[in-house]
Amino acid sequence: MRKSTPTAPSTNDIHRQRLLQKRQEVLCGLGVKFDTLARMGRVAEDDQAQISHDEFVSLHLNSLDYGQLRLIEEALDRLTSGDYGICLCCEEPIAAKRLAALPWARYCVSCQEREGAQMDRNWDETRTRVPVAVR
Ligand SMILES: [Zn+2]
Repeated sequence: MRKSTPTAPSTNDIHRQRLLQKRQEVLCGLGVKFDTLARMGRVAEDDQAQISHDEFVSLHLNSLDYGQLRLIEEALDRLTSGDYGICLCCEEPIAAKRLAALPWARYCVSCQEREGAQMDRNWDETRTRVPVAVR
């Protein structure tokens, strides 16, 4: 069990605020109920079948925004777990400047440039790679 961080850097609070704000913007853009997305983000894959067809189609049409929402949720999770700001690919710290511009960034600049061409695939990988953990 990870003990609570003794000296939590205040920059993380700033990132968290920005992520929460961005999440609101994305949710408004998606025009779907937060409940639905919260469920989709947190429940196991099997349970997604319970989400109505209309909601699913709506989410599918907005898959790009939805993908970003997932990135935001992941970033918030990483803030909580203490992994925030670490590149998921090379495990190097992501530059503070980059995090300021993209608080939900998962990769450092060089890894992102490598992955950039497959952004669409990335959204899918986001869904499959993230373990569903009970929090
Ligand atoms: Zn990297």
